Amino acid sequence: YDDREGFIWMDGKLVPWREANVHILSHAMHYASSVFEGERCYDGKIFKGHEHSLRLLESGRLLDMPIPYTAEQIDAAKAEVLAANNLTNAYVRAVAWRGAGEDMGVAARRNPVRLAVAAWEWGAYYGDAKMQGAKLDIAKWRRPSPDTIPTAAKAAGLYMICTMSKHAAEEKGCSDALFYDYRGYVAEATGANVFFVKDGEVHTPIPDAILNGITRQTVIAMLRDKGMVVHERHILPEELESFSECWLTGTAAEVTPVGQIGNYHFQVGQITRDVAKSYEELVRA
Ligand code: PMP
Repeated sequence: YDDREGFIWMDGKLVPWREANVHILSHAMHYASSVFEGERCYDGKIFKGHEHSLRLLESGRLLDMPIPYTAEQIDAAKAEVLAANNLTNAYVRAVAWRGAGEDMGVAARRNPVRLAVAAWEWGAYYGDAKMQGAKLDIAKWRRPSPDTIPTAAKAAGLYMICTMSKHAAEEKGCSDALFYDYRGYVAEATGANVFFVKDGEVHTPIPDAILNGITRQTVIAMLRDKGMVVHERHILPEELESFSECWLTGTAAEVTPVGQIGNYHFQVGQITRDVAKSYEELVRA
């Protein structure tokens, strides 16, 4: 992704894509002082763009790393990047991190908190087979406890085990991995939340140790608007066999049906299809 035409917004100005570099002694490189957002722009409008800017600021706050911009300034930076790269349907990545500076130790108050925004075209996250039902491995790692790491932040440090688990899943021919959490409850995938259907009702984990995805919140509201029952609750792995349908939600994943998790199988059923279609309509509305 480093060698292409275009512009990236860095610390207040647009820089040519290939020159959007940081110093190797950036604090973030050594200590994971980095938070980010993934957003999608549909037909020229970022879906829930402002909510993503607010979550980025909150992630920075949770890491004791205040980002020196307002949500409105971040919104404006995203619009500038999309325009500069002539994009109307794109993925938008904002990232804030502690840069290089006076400090090279763990404490780094004197190092600047920096912000960059990039955007590029990015199709279906799970590829062409999206509506066929993704196959998920069960991760050997667990989502950590909220008193171990700030699990409500969308922070780079939380993704170390995501990369490892996704690699392991892909080596087994799966598209992603499902995590259990530190208590053993069903948690989330490496970049998406998970939903299940049983007897026409929807079940999804409580976001007490996982990212409360913006897509997750959107889909729950959408289902309740339609009069469907949604249970946010702790889900045990033993329950997986009792569910008939399963899907993932996320900015990149959108609504992706799941056909298999480990040895458990699910149908790409009517509720999953309806949710996927309604979400597709909503993001372009
Ligand atoms: N969980 C994790 C670990 C994620 O990385 C993401 C993607 N940001 C999600 C859930 C879904 O979040 P959202 O719907 O806000 O994209």
